[in-house]
Amino acid sequence: MNPNLSKRINAMATSATLAMAAKARELREEGKDIIGLSLGEPDFNVPEFVKDAAIEAVKENYHSYTPVDGYGDLKNAIITKFKRDNDLIYTPNQIVVSTGAKQSLANLAMVLLNEGDEVLLPAPYWVSYSDISKLAGGVPVEIPTSIESDFKITPKSLKASISSKTKMMIYSSPCNPSGSVYSREELRALADVLIDYPEIIVISDEIYEHINFTGQHTSMAVFEDMYNRTVVVNGVSKAYSMTGWRIGYIGAPDWIARACNKMQGQITSGANCIAQQATITALESSPEKIKYMIDAFKERRKLILGLIAEIPGFKTNQPQGAFYVFPDISYYFGKIIKGTTINTASDFSMYLLEKANVATVTGEAFGNPNCIRISYAASEEAITEACKRIKKALV
Ligand code: PMP
Ligand code: GLU
Repeated sequence: MNPNLSKRINAMATSATLAMAAKARELREEGKDIIGLSLGEPDFNVPEFVKDAAIEAVKENYHSYTPVDGYGDLKNAIITKFKRDNDLIYTPNQIVVSTGAKQSLANLAMVLLNEGDEVLLPAPYWVSYSDISKLAGGVPVEIPTSIESDFKITPKSLKASISSKTKMMIYSSPCNPSGSVYSREELRALADVLIDYPEIIVISDEIYEHINFTGQHTSMAVFEDMYNRTVVVNGVSKAYSMTGWRIGYIGAPDWIARACNKMQGQITSGANCIAQQATITALESSPEKIKYMIDAFKERRKLILGLIAEIPGFKTNQPQGAFYVFPDISYYFGKIIKGTTINTASDFSMYLLEKANVATVTGEAFGNPNCIRISYAASEEAITEACKRIKKALV
């Protein structure tokens, strides 16, 4: 920590997902054969038809600054996508395109939170929710869950976590890291609690919408009594394997979208012009076109769950979406494995990196200190080899 830096940055944790990915990269450069299962990044190429649209945009001389909240034709494509996939109706003034869903989330925290406002985070939650909230002065309040309840909160646990300071709730479904998917009925039951607290804004992170093996995705915004206080966050990183292209977006009440537009106008301006043009093509295409990736993730889930079941001391739920498994490995706490003492999930994840050369992420970063996150957005060979190495390092 450097005292010359702001208190703001000194108080911020480094993103655990990105830190582990950087560490794996470093070790690889040193010549170690690391299998990276830390980063949630599809290993597929960007679909050809999306690449073609980007090439076309370059040729058509797209190069200027873009409108801060996104090209009008992209906003229209997003509106059509929301109607087609989610039964949600938005107008252009309710859409803001950003440099990744991460920026969408940061905008929302910055425009909605005041110092001391509480942010409900059903745990486990995606790493950055907590630090983004804190950066904006918010106070994260974790809502605990258990593996037995598929890592889902209940109306009772939600109600018990609400205080007079609660301003926001952020959750993802399908969930990173647990893979849990809230059904329409479960979301309705949570909404029934929230209707008594109209000041709470719900941020529904639906970036894994298409990577959902239940066949049913529901947005909290679809309920009429929640629409005006729910912000839907989505993007193309996961479903279209466009992580580095950096396009995310929101569908929000007009007053929130306007504030995000203002915030973004001072911080980054509009998102990249070529990536926006390619995103129009991605979103206008039928979700059938990306089904081959979803099918592959489903196969890999089966593979990894089978392999993990053979490793002693790993307890998992059955993830229904996204591309992670989140095993409880607390069985190893207090044990000495081949001379290394394991007291925490961080110790365990480090042990796997050093002794099995497999990169995972500690559950502590996701608000669950008993688990580690393993991404199965990797080839079947990599998954098989990683599990073999993990097993060997532990028995
Ligand atoms: N939300 C969740 C749940 C994520 O896993 C991620 C990781 N990419 C993001 C948001 C941010 O995505 P983007 O690449 O669009 O910034
Ligand atoms: N969201 C991905 C993950 O959870 C990518 C890394 C990040 O953006 O933090 O691994």
